[in-house]
Amino acid sequence: MGGDSHDVIIIGAGVAGISLSYFLTERGVTDILILERESQPAYHATGRSAAVLVELDTIPALHQLKVRSAGFFRDPPSGFSEYPLLQQSGALLLFGGPMWDMLRQAAQSLGEMGTRLELLSPAEAVARVPVLSEEHFEGAVLLPEDGQMDVHQLLQSYTHHARKRGAVQQLNTEVEAIRVENGRSVGVETRAGAFRARWIVNAAGAWAGKPGDMAGCAGINQAGTEAAILVGNLRCEEKDLQLSIERMPWQGDVQWEIFRLDSRHDLECVRSGRASVEEIRLTESVEAPCVLLVRLHKTLTPP
Ligand SMILES: Cc1cc2nc3c(=O)[nH]c(=O)nc-3n(C[C@H](O)[C@H](O)[C@H](O)COP(=O)(O)OP(=O)(O)OC[C@H]3O[C@@H](n4cnc5c(N)ncnc54)[C@H](O)[C@@H]3O)c2cc1C
Repeated sequence: MGGDSHDVIIIGAGVAGISLSYFLTERGVTDILILERESQPAYHATGRSAAVLVELDTIPALHQLKVRSAGFFRDPPSGFSEYPLLQQSGALLLFGGPMWDMLRQAAQSLGEMGTRLELLSPAEAVARVPVLSEEHFEGAVLLPEDGQMDVHQLLQSYTHHARKRGAVQQLNTEVEAIRVENGRSVGVETRAGAFRARWIVNAAGAWAGKPGDMAGCAGINQAGTEAAILVGNLRCEEKDLQLSIERMPWQGDVQWEIFRLDSRHDLECVRSGRASVEEIRLTESVEAPCVLLVRLHKTLTPP
């Protein structure tokens, strides 16, 4: 395709959009236009990340994605980047209560899925990091092959190779509407003009609900989220989970869900509800081990 028509338009130049442009061009799909509303790429979550590779997730599908990504970061293709992408300093995660119980149960299957991990007692963790206080956690997970990512190097490298193969990033260009014909997204509208494409990818991060709405995507609308998920503060006192998220820096409605890890290590939702952030202060009696997910809804506005 040519002119204002492309094979693929990607909405959003965060790590999701930029990495996709790299992997598509590597596979021969080179006519790609990335549209980013800000004046520079990686302006939002990608540019603010703590840049730690932690190959551990309580959700099996996400865990597998992390394992597969980690392999690339540790051992990228020859010539991909000027400097290493990962400093394998190791990552140490501290746990207590139901999360620790859950991790101890899941450790073997996580290892079988490809994560190298060691479970440490509080004393063993303190021996490695003497500033830790043993009373405040029940155990630790050491991920010896994980550590600090060089996000700048990663993005530069993705961009460099994708650009060489034909992908273009256009900044200061917000997608304001999506054109749908016969139930298929065929183009986008921006103040810089209209662009057509065979495929339109929504990589708008926490704003993914908006392009979803523009294209009439039922899935994203029904979920009603801004694609942001927070794990709320979670304490376990005598089997009661005290859910206290009143100090989150948001206003508006949230949906909360409590998941229990079943014997197949899948997460099963055992309780859910809706509340406003200002009001939510729940005491739920559930069997440990459980995790809490708090979904931010599109009615949320930063304070
Ligand atoms: C404080 C913080 C710390 C974190 N720490 C870590 C960590 O240590 N390790 C880790 O793995 N992850 C971490 N994360 C998570 C990680 O940063 C994100 O998962 C990741 O960056 C998301 O990338 P993304 O491309 O989906 O979103 P983003 O980086 O937000 O990119 C989305 C882009 O889409 C653009 N956009 C939105 N709407 C439109 C539109 N209509 N038209 C054009 N452009 C649009 C936005 O401007 C934005 O640039 C952290 C996140 C935060 C916020």
